[in-house]
Amino acid sequence: MKARSSGTGPPSPKPPNTAATARSVSKGKTSTKRTKYPDIRRDLERQRTVILDEVEEVLTHRGDLEAFPDVSDQASAEIDQNFSMRIRERERKLLKKIDEALERMNTATYGICERCGGDIPYKRLKARPVTTLCIECKTLQEQEEKARG
Ligand SMILES: [Zn+2]
Repeated sequence: MKARSSGTGPPSPKPPNTAATARSVSKGKTSTKRTKYPDIRRDLERQRTVILDEVEEVLTHRGDLEAFPDVSDQASAEIDQNFSMRIRERERKLLKKIDEALERMNTATYGICERCGGDIPYKRLKARPVTTLCIECKTLQEQEEKARG
C-alpha cells in the first residue's frame, strides 16, 4: 500500500520580498538642487555625523561598564549610565532638529522664520543652524514661555 503521493508543491511561491532597505545616506554627492546655504548644510551634516559617532561611543562604553563585577564600580556605572542616557536623550533631540533643518533645506523652507515668515539672518543661522525662528520671534517665544512658567 502506498500512503504518500508526492504531489506538486504549492503553486508559484511568492518571491521573497527582501529588497534591501537601503538607508538613504546622503554623503558626498549632493543633488543639483540649489541650496541657499551650502556651508550651513555642510555644518549640519558634520554635526549629525559627530552626534551619531558619540552615541555609538556611549553605547560601546556602557557595554564595558556593565562588565565590572565590583559593587562600587557598578554603582558608579549606574550613575554613568544615567548620565549617558541623558546625553543620548539630548542628542536625539538635537539629531531630530538637524534632520528637520536638512528637510527644510530640501523643501526650500530653510532660513524662514516659522512664526513671522521673515528671513532669518544668515549670521543667526550660521551660529545656530537648527533654529526655526528669527531673533525677535525667539525672544517673544522665550518671554511667553517664561510667562507660562
Ligand atoms: Zn520671526
